[in-house]
Amino acid sequence: MRAGTARDHNGAFPAPDPSMDAAPTAPENCELCHGAGGVLLWQNDSCRVVAVDEPGLPGFLRVVLNRHEREMTDLAAAERDRLMAVVFAVEAHVRQSMEPDKMNLASLGNLTPHLHWHVIPRWRDDRHFPGPVWAAPRHAGPVPPGRAAAAARMAESLPAALAALGA
Ligand SMILES: [Zn+2]
Repeated sequence: MRAGTARDHNGAFPAPDPSMDAAPTAPENCELCHGAGGVLLWQNDSCRVVAVDEPGLPGFLRVVLNRHEREMTDLAAAERDRLMAVVFAVEAHVRQSMEPDKMNLASLGNLTPHLHWHVIPRWRDDRHFPGPVWAAPRHAGPVPPGRAAAAARMAESLPAALAALGA
C-alpha cells in the first residue's frame, strides 16, 4: 500500500466520485481550450508560449499544448519530444536573459487538466522562495527594480530565440 492512499474498510480503493470528472476536465469547459492562457508570445502548430500575469513573478511563462490532452503519456513519443524541445528552449532563453538563481519547470494540471508546462525563473528574494510559487508567500516584499523590465525584454526576444524550432 502506498503511503497516504486512503482505502475503505474493505481495503479497496474507493470508487471515484463521478462529479470529480465532470465540468473542469471536459474540453468544452477548459480555459486552455477557450483562451490562450496568458499573453501569447509564440506558437507553432503543436503548442504555444504565453506570459503569465503574475506581477510578483516576472518572467513566469507557460508552454501550452494547443489541443486538449491530459497527460504527457497521452502524446505520441515524437510529439512529446517536440513539446519538450520547446519547454527546454524556453527555459534556456529565460535563464540566459534573466539570470535567475534557479529555474522551476512544473506540469501539474490538477485544476486544468490540459497539458501545459510552467517555466518559472526563481530568485532567492522572491516571495515564495524556496517553496514552490503555489505555496503561501514567505514575505510581501517588492519585486526588485528592473526585474519586470528584464522580463519584458525576455518576452520580446523570445520569438527570435525559438525561431530555430520552426513556426
Ligand atoms: Zn483544454
